[in-house]
Amino acid sequence: MQNHQPTEIRRLPQSLSIEWKDGLRSEIPYRILREKCPCARCSAIKQENDPFRVLPTAEYWNNLHLVGIKPVGRYAVQLQWSDGHKTGIYTFSFLYELSTDTYQDASSNNATTK
Ligand SMILES: [Zn+2]
Repeated sequence: MQNHQPTEIRRLPQSLSIEWKDGLRSEIPYRILREKCPCARCSAIKQENDPFRVLPTAEYWNNLHLVGIKPVGRYAVQLQWSDGHKTGIYTFSFLYELSTDTYQDASSNNATTK
């Protein structure tokens, strides 16, 4: 796979907007970004799959936004969230994958929307 490079990254109220060198423009909702957080802690929580884990409320997701984007070398960004979480490092190829996934999810969601 080619090495994906963003030409512009912008913070929108509910999502991250990325323009890619190859012309693709992606908009990734913060909720999806956060749910896919690749940091060690979030991966551990996902693997535990604890049924008693307290799931975040809709209000939590509505209020969650990015407070900072820090470049990591030339291949990734570190995202800083409004709840203080900032250990997730998202490589550009991961973000690129996420954007294409997002579009697929969105279309399948529309198909099943009541
Ligand atoms: Zn995390």
